[in-house]
Amino acid sequence: MDTLLSASERDFALEMRQFYRSEIPEELRFKVATGQELGKDDMVASQRILNSHGYAVPDWPTEWGGRDWTPVQRHIWLEEMQLACVPQPLPFNTSMVGPVIATFGSEELKQRFLPATANLDIWWSQGFSEPNAGSDLASLRTSAVRDGQKYIVNGQKTWTTLGQYGDWIFNLVRTDPTVKKQAGISFLLIDMRSPGVTVRPIQLIDGGHEVNEVFFDNVEVPVENLVGEENKGWTYAKFLLGNERTGIARIGTSKVNLARAKAYAAVTKTARGSLLDDPLFSARLTRLEAELTALEMTQLRILSTQAAGADAPDPRSSVLKLRGSQLQEDISELLVDVLGPQGLDFVTDRVQGAGFSDLPLGAVDALPAYFNKRKVTIYGGSSEVQRGIISKALLGL
Ligand SMILES: Cc1cc2nc3c(=O)[nH]c(=O)nc-3n(C[C@H](O)[C@H](O)[C@H](O)COP(=O)(O)OP(=O)(O)OC[C@H]3O[C@@H](n4cnc5c(N)ncnc54)[C@H](O)[C@@H]3O)c2cc1C
Repeated sequence: MDTLLSASERDFALEMRQFYRSEIPEELRFKVATGQELGKDDMVASQRILNSHGYAVPDWPTEWGGRDWTPVQRHIWLEEMQLACVPQPLPFNTSMVGPVIATFGSEELKQRFLPATANLDIWWSQGFSEPNAGSDLASLRTSAVRDGQKYIVNGQKTWTTLGQYGDWIFNLVRTDPTVKKQAGISFLLIDMRSPGVTVRPIQLIDGGHEVNEVFFDNVEVPVENLVGEENKGWTYAKFLLGNERTGIARIGTSKVNLARAKAYAAVTKTARGSLLDDPLFSARLTRLEAELTALEMTQLRILSTQAAGADAPDPRSSVLKLRGSQLQEDISELLVDVLGPQGLDFVTDRVQGAGFSDLPLGAVDALPAYFNKRKVTIYGGSSEVQRGIISKALLGL
């Protein structure tokens, strides 16, 4: 990337590189580098260090801890974080609800929530999707009925990522069922310890506990927890989804995983030498490296023509999401192909309760990670939905 940057951007990249490697504990970065699962404590520890140095929420307004950076500097901040294998700030806090409260919330909500959100003193969950409202989010049915100074909330959310850790959830709720569906939605902040909130895990194919269903049964929510105006929630949701897609290409992480695949291939023996000497394998690796470089150039081209602080979502981010998520899946498949048999041993060992200390690091999580990565072409807007946006907004079809 460095050759594509100006001299001052290269200096900035070096500063970030040194910071991440000196200030974020080695054991946290090692977990990320070897594809191990991070616990809540790991993520909180990392975000608090970033926040104490002013590096947790650079996209926010400066009065709430943001930095007045250019889009390219923000890209460098994130890319260097991924390359250094630093656990990223919790997106529900930093790129979703935080900017919504900062832009549309009352002064009281800002004071109450923004500092704690930046520091991960509050863990937020995202309550958007429902069993019959995913891509067609505006069809959501969870209702909030005004009763004096509170709302009574009933309904169900699903796919709530890490909801088992959630202190609060930002919910899209239906406050007016009589109007066009987008016009009757509000954005409500709900304390997950309120009576009537139930979190139930969803079993995943990789064996992990990452997503949940959340049920609301006559949950009482004070009216002051409404963000912005009643029935304007769809506007705030669109703003949030535009931010969610920024940086979702995860190019730095893909570079790290591709380098891992290459390193493992170099020590995997074949009849001709190592797996790297195999022409079919090396052609596949080269194709992925070339596509990743092309994606990075596209990202920088888009960033360099974006105005700093632009509020409207850029439809070109759909190109980055579409290709970036596909490449993440392809690279996770490559890792399984390199490490596969050993990864399968791990799954068997885990089922049988045996140890796995003799396996190379990375083999342990390659197969579960492969299964887990199927999600990236679904969340944040599925690939089909991104293609729809590209065809309409960019190609004018
Ligand atoms: C691991 C994971 C974590 C998630 N975390 C959260 C979370 O924390 N909070 C939250 O609120 N949500 C979360 N989601 C939900 C996610 O946003 C939805 O899964 C996504 O929007 C797709 O909705 P759906 O699953 O209902 O599928 P559907 O919308 O029912 O789509 C089914 C299929 O139809 C296709 N399709 C749908 N509409 C169109 C169209 N217009 N044109 C062409 N094809 C179409 C889709 O691409 C897909 O292949 C998560 C999802 C996953 C997988």
